Amino acid sequence: MKLFEKLIDHREAARLVGENTKRLPVEDVPLEDAQGLALAEDLKARFDSPPFDNSAVDGYAVRSADATEGRTFEVVDEAPAGRPARKSVGEGEAIKIFTGGVIPEGSDAVVMVENTSGWGEEFELKKAAAAGQNVRRGGEDVRKDDIILRAGTEIGAPEIALAATQGYGKIPVYRRPRVVALSTGTELVPPGERDLSPGEIYDSNSFAIVAQAREAGAEARRISAASDEPDALRNAIEEALENADVVVTSGGVSVGEKDLVKSTMTDLGVRQVFWGVKFKPGKPLFFGMRDDAGVFGLPGNPVSAMVCFDLFVRPALMRMMGREDRKRPRVQVYFDEDVHNRFGRLHAMRVSLQKTEKGWRAESVGAQGSGLVSSLTKADALALIGPESEVRSGEFVEAIVLREEVLIGELGTESTGRMVESRG
Ligand code: AMP
Ligand code: MG
Repeated sequence: MKLFEKLIDHREAARLVGENTKRLPVEDVPLEDAQGLALAEDLKARFDSPPFDNSAVDGYAVRSADATEGRTFEVVDEAPAGRPARKSVGEGEAIKIFTGGVIPEGSDAVVMVENTSGWGEEFELKKAAAAGQNVRRGGEDVRKDDIILRAGTEIGAPEIALAATQGYGKIPVYRRPRVVALSTGTELVPPGERDLSPGEIYDSNSFAIVAQAREAGAEARRISAASDEPDALRNAIEEALENADVVVTSGGVSVGEKDLVKSTMTDLGVRQVFWGVKFKPGKPLFFGMRDDAGVFGLPGNPVSAMVCFDLFVRPALMRMMGREDRKRPRVQVYFDEDVHNRFGRLHAMRVSLQKTEKGWRAESVGAQGSGLVSSLTKADALALIGPESEVRSGEFVEAIVLREEVLIGELGTESTGRMVESRG
């Protein structure tokens, strides 16, 4: 019988994953595909921005020296956005201008059309204007050679906008990891395909893994579940390994006779880094490397697979992208009752959270069986209960927050509907 050679501590497992995963190569990625990636180099302004003095309003460009109340102006040209005027503004003259239009030569102020007698060949000014009024200065946003974004910055909508203003069509980022998810198990049927025959279940893990990988910012796809037959398994794992930065399998990695995933992986040249972690849910977790690709064999139980993904695969993806994970904050939580862990390994317990006067109160989502998929929809956090420990009522332990939106409660905002529901 196969047995775990050695169960390692969960911190050691996390350390080994970190040690073996490296940042992916830097690539110039089109702006629209860079969201969620980390900038690999400082980005400099190529020119002053905005590139020219322009109007902040629709109205007339005038000389401020002329802009006294009651004066009449002759309109000599126009300057819509994108088409500078051909004429310049002389004494008593004005050029019709629209927001973003280039401030015409000779003028130094823009009067809003609302402060004139209206659009026309000429107009009367109803309100005096000072120099610089309604003029947006070239360079007032960004100066040439300024560092506009620092290396390491995570690219979101504002960063994309800023890079675009400077004409960057592509920016250098650590490449997005390519994840392939593969479920294993003869009992698995793809959801939506057909009804189940006796003994069969629908494959949920590969769908969950793809969603988790995408949520982390990776590119992910699933391949059809493999049966537990050695040849089928081998072909599927081989296919998954092609062209992937990270392969995530589920099932078949424990000590059962049909659990051939680990041996098949090592046969295919995957170097085992560890197999077996003192961790619940997810003791049989396997991690190995083939060349630069990380290979995770997650346990088949859906809760184990998802929790192991969050605790071990997600940090690896973040590392590959050169990113900090800001969406898994750790907070101190307490329970209203004594909590025991008799498993002899760390228990990442699914809990819901509630803010109280004392801090964050955690409550088990109910039964903690690792097949209970519905329990995950109710979990706000994973409370980390040490091995062989007894956490007394009111005592604080660390928890990893899975839905950082629950922390919004801390800011005094209304709870979301989902939170209320999870409170039962
Ligand atoms: P295993 O790790 O292969 O022994 O599987 C443990 C349990 O998880 C068994 O009850 C499997 O049927 C179930 N399981 C394995 N893979 C999946 C999957 N992809 N989706 C849903 N359940 C699964
Ligand atoms: Mg199985």
